[in-house]
Amino acid sequence: MTSERQESCDVAVIGAGMAGMATALFAAERGLSCIQVGNGGGLLFASGLLDLLGVHPVSARRRWRSPYEALAALAHDEPEHPLARVDAASIRSAFETFVAGLGSAGLPYAPLDESNRDVLTSIGTLKTTFGVPRSMMGGVDALDSRPPCLLVDFRGLREFSARQIVATLGARWPGLRHQRIEFPGCDGTPELYAAHLARALESRATRERTIALVRPLLGDAQAVGFPAVLGLALGAAVHAAFEEALGIPVFEIPTMPTSVPGLRLLAALEAAVADRGVHRRHQARVRALTFDARGTTATLDLAGDSGSEAGDGERVVARAVVLATGRFSGRGLIADRGGARESILGLPVFQPGSREAWHRRDFLDPSGHSINRAGLEVDDAWRPLNAGGAPVWPRLYAVGSILAHQDWMRSKCGSGLAIATAWAAVAQVASDLRGPGTT
Ligand SMILES: Cc1cc2nc3c(=O)[nH]c(=O)nc-3n(C[C@H](O)[C@H](O)[C@H](O)COP(=O)(O)OP(=O)(O)OC[C@H]3O[C@@H](n4cnc5c(N)ncnc54)[C@H](O)[C@@H]3O)c2cc1C
Repeated sequence: MTSERQESCDVAVIGAGMAGMATALFAAERGLSCIQVGNGGGLLFASGLLDLLGVHPVSARRRWRSPYEALAALAHDEPEHPLARVDAASIRSAFETFVAGLGSAGLPYAPLDESNRDVLTSIGTLKTTFGVPRSMMGGVDALDSRPPCLLVDFRGLREFSARQIVATLGARWPGLRHQRIEFPGCDGTPELYAAHLARALESRATRERTIALVRPLLGDAQAVGFPAVLGLALGAAVHAAFEEALGIPVFEIPTMPTSVPGLRLLAALEAAVADRGVHRRHQARVRALTFDARGTTATLDLAGDSGSEAGDGERVVARAVVLATGRFSGRGLIADRGGARESILGLPVFQPGSREAWHRRDFLDPSGHSINRAGLEVDDAWRPLNAGGAPVWPRLYAVGSILAHQDWMRSKCGSGLAIATAWAAVAQVASDLRGPGTT
């Protein structure tokens, strides 16, 4: 069944990954009316950690303690990189606003400072990142000082092994030990799922039984780590309850995707944008985008996403449009034998000259693969360019991983790219719609 609904707004955001969510949040905070189209499924793969810039140059795999020093080096070496085109003050404001938005939706992050932080992963390696959920911060501190520390896991939770972490790190952290316990009420259950445990720990009775099992194991531990299952919507309260009852810092370690921190992040971002008045069409996708001849409005034709009929036949009329549709996995870019192209308008994509040049012979080549730098080229106002090098439409903008000249995975800058470019593009949208100086 199709509907004839049509809605209008200042800015339409296409995409609901990290970049689309950040764009919608920042647009709403600036008082722009906003409609967002797309499902946030990709966010389920997020670890909850917000990388800014951890590695540069990727070929040397150089890790940086200060993301801002890394950004300065990036700006010098790769001025066309999208992150090099956003000034440091804007990046600071973008991150502060983003984590404040998450905090207001019940997902607190540790205060941001000027440094990257190392976080323990579920296999005992260290991940360099920037924004850390408060529930994981005790692990960052413990990693720094390496005191006697207990890691707890649950029998049947296959995606996390405290023993594995200790095996990997133990030689460099002699006081690190592990214990496996039965999750209350699940004795003998062969396989447990992180989201189920997180939900179960929101019940006071289950929480208290778990704490009672852990308390006698603490010994001399000065901190205790768990897989990231300490609550879902009530995560902050569950984490606080564990800390209070155990009397030492308690920290979560991210598990493999799909992870509870990803579920929390998606829920918090959805709540944050909804609270600020963004209208979401989360089961819809944009099947066509057209611009009026006078250059004042764009029209988005919606279709139901993944078999859903929600939104099918609806139209959104917007004064500005932000493309935040991601690369190949997000479906913002599609590839065929002829090469890669943008999926809605068929916009030209910066890419290697031939398909043979997409990948290097060695999959793990430290320089990365050329196709991972493919994407849209934009002008100084974040507007995608047509084949002639001119903006496609005066108020069509692009943000996030769809942008060319970056390899966010190798640079460890996924969220930073999304958040910083969203901030810069929304400032431009506000200026273009209201006039310069009135953002
Ligand atoms: C496994 C994994 C782990 C990650 N871990 C981290 C991490 O630890 N730290 C970190 O900082 N970052 C991490 N990231 C990266 C980060 O979460 C984002 O994926 C990345 O920043 C890209 O975001 P994006 O919004 O640009 O694109 P995407 O996440 O790809 O989002 C694109 C969105 O556009 C939508 N879309 C596409 N076409 C249409 C259409 N026609 N109509 C409507 N909607 C459309 C899609 O449905 C999707 O919602 C991770 C990513 C993955 C995949």
